[in-house]
Amino acid sequence: MDYGPAQESDILAREWIKSHGPKFRQFVNGKWVAPKAKKYLISREPSTGRKLASIPLSGKQDINHAVRSAHEAFDNWKKLSCHVRARYLYAMARQIQKNARLFAVLEALDNGKTIRETRDIDIPLVARHFYHHAGWAQVRDSALQGYEPLGVIGQIIPWNFPMLMLAWKIAPALAMGNTVVLKPAEYTSLTALLFAEICEQINLPPGVVNIVTGDGSTGAELVKHRDISKIAFTGSTEVGRKICQVTADSEKRLSLELGGKSPFIVFDDADLDGVVEGIVDAIWFNQGQVCCAGSRLLVQESITNKLYRKIKNRMEKLRVGHSLDKGVDIGAIVAPVQLKTIESLVSKGLDEGADMWQPSWTCPKEGWYYPPTLFTNVAPASLIAQEEIFGPVLIAMSFRTPSEAVKLANNTRYGLAASIWTENINLALDIAPKVKAGSVWVNCTNVFDAASGFGGYRESGFGREGGIEGLYEYVRFGIEKDFLPAPTVLSPLNKSKGVGNVNQVPGIDRTAKMYMGGKQKRPDGGYNMPVFNASGDLAGQVGLGNRKDIRNAVEAAHAAEGWSTTAAHIRAQVLYFVGENLEARAAEFAGRLSDLLGQTKRRSLREVNMTLERIFTYAAYADKYEGTIHDTPYRNVTLAMKEPLGVMGIVCPEEAPLLGFVSAVLPPIAMGNTVVAVPSSTFPLLATDLYQVLDTSDVPPGVVNIVTGDKDLLADVLSDHDDVDGLWYFGSREGSTRIRYSSAANMKRTWVNFGRNPDWFDPAQTKPDYFLHKAVQIKNIWIPYGE
Ligand code: NDP
Repeated sequence: MDYGPAQESDILAREWIKSHGPKFRQFVNGKWVAPKAKKYLISREPSTGRKLASIPLSGKQDINHAVRSAHEAFDNWKKLSCHVRARYLYAMARQIQKNARLFAVLEALDNGKTIRETRDIDIPLVARHFYHHAGWAQVRDSALQGYEPLGVIGQIIPWNFPMLMLAWKIAPALAMGNTVVLKPAEYTSLTALLFAEICEQINLPPGVVNIVTGDGSTGAELVKHRDISKIAFTGSTEVGRKICQVTADSEKRLSLELGGKSPFIVFDDADLDGVVEGIVDAIWFNQGQVCCAGSRLLVQESITNKLYRKIKNRMEKLRVGHSLDKGVDIGAIVAPVQLKTIESLVSKGLDEGADMWQPSWTCPKEGWYYPPTLFTNVAPASLIAQEEIFGPVLIAMSFRTPSEAVKLANNTRYGLAASIWTENINLALDIAPKVKAGSVWVNCTNVFDAASGFGGYRESGFGREGGIEGLYEYVRFGIEKDFLPAPTVLSPLNKSKGVGNVNQVPGIDRTAKMYMGGKQKRPDGGYNMPVFNASGDLAGQVGLGNRKDIRNAVEAAHAAEGWSTTAAHIRAQVLYFVGENLEARAAEFAGRLSDLLGQTKRRSLREVNMTLERIFTYAAYADKYEGTIHDTPYRNVTLAMKEPLGVMGIVCPEEAPLLGFVSAVLPPIAMGNTVVAVPSSTFPLLATDLYQVLDTSDVPPGVVNIVTGDKDLLADVLSDHDDVDGLWYFGSREGSTRIRYSSAANMKRTWVNFGRNPDWFDPAQTKPDYFLHKAVQIKNIWIPYGE
């Protein structure tokens, strides 16, 4: 017997569309306004291809208007009490819940995803997000002491989860006291406009939420606008990269949720029937148009045939059809252009020699559909194994051992999510930390919750949405306002007696080498540079590092990655030992500081003592800056683990040459990163003196590598390096811009100072969590727990 139709009624949704006239308007400053240029886009219904509505194609003037309104609203909104803001967010949650069915139907019509998903997943999660963040709004001042809102946030969202992405962006931004201008995707703006109506109904102050519809050019105007404090973006890695580059010279903060090619790893002891249902959720949920879709199936070799058979049986029974049919598993593809992308990548997969399997039934003729597809016999390096297809296409590969599974899983430039299927908890928890991904699901997949952060590793972007970790994306450390202009080159070099050629200077005491892999290394280029003291006399020489030195140092840092899995307690002990050994040489370091800076011994001793204190602080935090357990409302607990970024470049400040160096290098080390440090160009001798201390303190070779030379030149090499995962830069404004721009190539996590540094001596301006936060990325591991 065949399935009968079970169509959800669309009457109310169509009436709602009609009530907005033949043409929608945008929502700015609490009013519905037509686009200045009177241009419109047509939004279509993917299930049939028919026109659904005309929506404004907003341009520069519309963006200016919206940003101005958000600015005007910001002052009052941020001054409201936490409780009042919480009330507004709570009211949004209530209204969304009351209008849940209308939202669900409208979303299904506009996007083509099934009503089953919008009704049971998208919209309930949207309401949950607003409720959860109403809570964060209420407790903001105690939960995030010392932080303040950023200002006007530009938010750009994609078409795959239109309302959910809106909630992920708007709820935390408002809860932290910001105002927003949000641009939905051109194919799916309708639920955002319905949300605008809710803002009206709850009497949200005008300008707090502005919804400006349009296409990529509208998004680009928003990104460029100089009165925006932050861009929060979800979409393709390509556009994410562009946004990094366009905003490089501004102090705009960024959070980017980008693409993925997530592994779905099945071990031979897994419950295969559970696995098959997991695969349905991983790759046929939302037609596979999901950034964290489990699109790469990695199967232990001994069970491949059995599992492939089961998957094919299940695929044969999946139903593709109209998004409002309640009995349908897979809806329509969002737009013809996306359908073409899928078709083209599938045909490339066939050209590459992979085996394709599709069910025997055919898709509806009207509308834009693609059948569930399985590729086996896929080479790991092939295009379909590497590129995000963003469609219902599963790529399967096999592995023999757990370590091979990890290698295959990490064989991608992305790192958004992974799921691990095994009945062996030891195995699952052995693999989870080894997979480079922001979310790891054990025996489940594609589960999300407002209490848990979501976001990527590597080229899947940076920043988190959800959980307490997501809140930090919408606040700034209040004391940043007091940071001072950072000197680029300090006095001694300027005061040099004009000795350009070091050979003319008698009495050279020594030439400090660089430090790589625990060994002293001569500079590759064979050149040194002089270092002068406060009187302008030559104090010594250091190597003039070049590109090759940085490459060698990065290699040494990679070779030391075992530091990341060294027990935090051991890392702490090593850092304490550094402190102990520095103390033994305190007088010598103070002497060096006095000579170079021309300051009193007392002042120099103060810097050494402060450095010791800082070393103790980060030694203490090495095993105390812990993860959290999120209380996600399923049969789960979610471990939010703070993991190191990997290899980090640290371009140190010029001033406070000992304290500044230690303050910048120690937080990453304490968190398990390995570091290539470029010390102050003016006073590199403090750093090169320090490696003797590191050498005697059990710091494993390669954990700290020091390359001396022209700071900005070396910083540029680090930012161009594809194997550097994070880069901190304490230098000039121009240098900061360059670093941000070129780091976009591999989506490095950058922290640049735009020419202003904290006062390294001020504990309030050097709060440890401010630094530690930037030295880790959070992996959320979902583990079955309880009933
Ligand atoms: P895009 O990255 O192009 O679009 C995402 C959002 O950014 C949309 O609102 C889009 O506007 C806007 N946008 C486009 N260009 C710019 C720009 N230069 N500056 C600012 N904003 C811009 O993704 P697509 O929707 O085109 O999808 C393309 C591919 O991206 C998919 O095939 C998929 O691989 C990936 N993708 C990943 C998602 C994820 O969640 N990680 C989500 C969606 C897509 P508009 O839609 O109006 O053009």
